[in-house]
Parts: sequence; C-alpha cells; structure tokens
Amino acid sequence: MKQLEQKILEEGIVLNENVLKVDSFLNHQVDPQLMFSMGQAFAAFFEGKGITKVITLESSGIAPAVMTALQMNVPLLFARKRKSLTLKDDLYTEKIYSFTKQEESEVTVSRKFLEAKDRVLIIDDFLANGDAALGLARIAEQAGASVAGIGIVIEKAFQPGRNKLIELGYLVHSLARVASLTGGKVTFAPDLSGADSSN
Ligand code: 5GP
Repeated sequence: MKQLEQKILEEGIVLNENVLKVDSFLNHQVDPQLMFSMGQAFAAFFEGKGITKVITLESSGIAPAVMTALQMNVPLLFARKRKSLTLKDDLYTEKIYSFTKQEESEVTVSRKFLEAKDRVLIIDDFLANGDAALGLARIAEQAGASVAGIGIVIEKAFQPGRNKLIELGYLVHSLARVASLTGGKVTFAPDLSGADSSN
C-alpha cells in the first residue's frame, strides 16, 4: 500500500535495527483517513472468505481493525491484556509474549463473543515473530472458530513471523513489508498479495 509506505518514510522513526516507531499515525496518535484506507485494503483482499468477525489485540490493533470491520460489516472483537485474573470461567485466555515489552501477558476474550460458527480475520499493527497473531489464532481455535486470514499493517519481513504463520497454513496479507531497518533507514520488500498461501 503505497500511501502507507510513504507515511512510514515520512514519519517512521527507526529505534534500532529491529524496531520501528510509528506513534504519529498508528501507535499513539491515529490518522483516521489512513486507517480508513487500510480497512478498505484489508476488506478487498479478504473479500469472499466468509468472515464473520474481526479480532485484534488492544490497543494498537483496534484502529485498523475497526475500519476493516466497518468495511466488512461485521463486529470487531479486541482481546484484552491483563496481568492477573481471578475469574476465568467465562473467558478464553492465552499467554502472549510481547515483542516490544519483552514480557508475557495474559490475553482474554469473553466466551460470549466467539462461537464455533465464526470465521475470524485477525488484524494486528505489526508482525515480528508472530506471537501476537498466533495467540489470537489459538483463542479463535479454543472457541472452535476458524481463522480465515491474518491481516498485518506493517510486516517486518526480516523477522520470522510470516514464515511461521504460512507454515501453519494461515493466509497472511500485509499492507507494508519492511525489508530492513539497517542504518536507521527503512527499505521495503515486495508486496506478496499474489503469492501468499491460501486456505
Ligand atoms: P510479534 O508478536 O509478531 O513478535 O510482534 C507483534 C507485536 O509486537 C505487535 O502487536 C506490536 O504491538 C509489537 N511490535 C513488534 N514489532 C514492532 C515494531 O517494530 N514497532 C512497534 N511499534 N511495535 C512492534
């Protein structure tokens, strides 16, 4: 998505060789027009996959995910991050290791919002090692729901996330693919829209 690549080049801050900061339009302040265009792009790519619900992880996944859900005319469900839990009976829970915080957190979704008949589209802001996307997939699968695809705003193509997800048979689509952050500079990898595996 050229508009997103342009925004990353203009406003992205390379923190180090592994981390890109985009808090001016995605992770803190949000650019609604850009989010709207992302929603259109995800909805177009995943059209016809029978998606009944979009699922993401709070908080940075919510903006692109809600726009995608709006375009697809389905609800958005966001998993919550909580450190400790007392009552777990009515929740699906998964432990997810955070790439940026370098700690594990417990992520929960209420059982009442996910059903075996759901076909979910997972949306997240970044793809690094794939832990967040896989945690969300495990939550969907706990409910007996199927995962129709995984949509990522910014994939770091030099990290192993995509390959892990593809090897597990998930359909992955990213709006921007970062090839490298070396030397404080963002370079992009080719769009793989036509080449992803499908299920
Ligand atoms: P993964 O679970 O795939 O290892 O990492 C994805 C998650 O870590 C995303 O939900 C995102 O919040 C965070 N993340 C990973 N890499 C980056 C990055 O370069 N920049 C920012 N802002 N977040 C990242």
